[in-house]
Amino acid sequence: MYAIAHDADTLAWNEAPSPGPLSERQVRLRVAWAGVNRADLMQRAGGYPPPPGASEILGLEVSGSVIETGSGVRQYQVGTRVCALLDGGGYAEEVVVDERQLLPLPDGLDLRQSAALPEVFATAWLNLFMEGALAPGERVLVHAAASGVGTAAIQLCRAFGQPCFVTAGSDEKLTRCRELGAEDGWNRHHGSFVETVKAWGGADMILDPVGASYLPDNQAVLNADGRLVVIGLMGGRHAKLDMGRLLMKRQRVIGSTLRAKPADAKGRILSALHEQVWPQLANGEIAPLIDRTWPIAEAEAAHAHMQQDANVGKLLLEVSG
Ligand code: NAP
Repeated sequence: MYAIAHDADTLAWNEAPSPGPLSERQVRLRVAWAGVNRADLMQRAGGYPPPPGASEILGLEVSGSVIETGSGVRQYQVGTRVCALLDGGGYAEEVVVDERQLLPLPDGLDLRQSAALPEVFATAWLNLFMEGALAPGERVLVHAAASGVGTAAIQLCRAFGQPCFVTAGSDEKLTRCRELGAEDGWNRHHGSFVETVKAWGGADMILDPVGASYLPDNQAVLNADGRLVVIGLMGGRHAKLDMGRLLMKRQRVIGSTLRAKPADAKGRILSALHEQVWPQLANGEIAPLIDRTWPIAEAEAAHAHMQQDANVGKLLLEVSG
């Protein structure tokens, strides 16, 4: 097969050994489309190694067709079109993945649209509703809200009745976020978000991929019994926590990563998505938000676009779509 070989300086579409052989619960997919995620840029730069046993090839999500099944696979047959949440290996013509990490395409969506779903909707669902334990009507603050994850989170908040305030890096991005369902937003280049979020009513839960540089302001706007769910460290990893505020306001700070979770845990998240979100994708209440696509051999251009913070929503690579 062909796959993207990477180092910090280059991405090259080269011949590579096919993955496998399959264990009992695994399937082999012929990849149609692969999603690009911030994590791919971090892995390429050497800052985010794959979990033990995962492919060294970049790529955390794909869509495609099942071309081989392990002896214990019951749910999927050769020929079924699926999308998949991967531990790695998506920038390739073939990938091997546990059947628990697959979902059928939502009704009415094609392979291209479906490749934009697994990583960002699984991340948003896990952290809003499982880790963040949102109760109906609780107020959410989403940072980096025009990102792939952010645009999924805004749509989930709107669909499930959670008021959502956002921060992003430009007024144009904030406009897009409002169109998706955000109530209001703050341009992060205009200074601290504290006063505007307080005026909005504070946050009961914060979905935060920024980390250190936002910690003091996040604590300042987090309401009593609020949850700060940290999913990324784009703003650094070391910061001072105000233990007094943590204690007196009964705040909780939760760290969360999806990639290293075992197949069973990923399967539980995907089952919830299938039940709660797939019907809303089928009826158009929620939609995949695709910013741009490139042929896989031009993955470098996609990475450059993401590195420049230019995307609103998802970037995709066409492998054999
Ligand atoms: P993406 O589409 O590349 O969007 C990232 C956006 O973050 C950028 O476009 C930029 O938008 C903003 N940003 C960049 N540096 C920033 C900084 N220092 N402070 C504040 N904002 C900054 O990203 P993605 O693939 O959706 O991922 C979003 C984040 O979620 C990443 O941090 C990723 O690592 C994390 N993530 C975590 C998990 C997990 O399981 N823990 C899973 C998936 C993703 P602006 O122009 O708006 O600033």
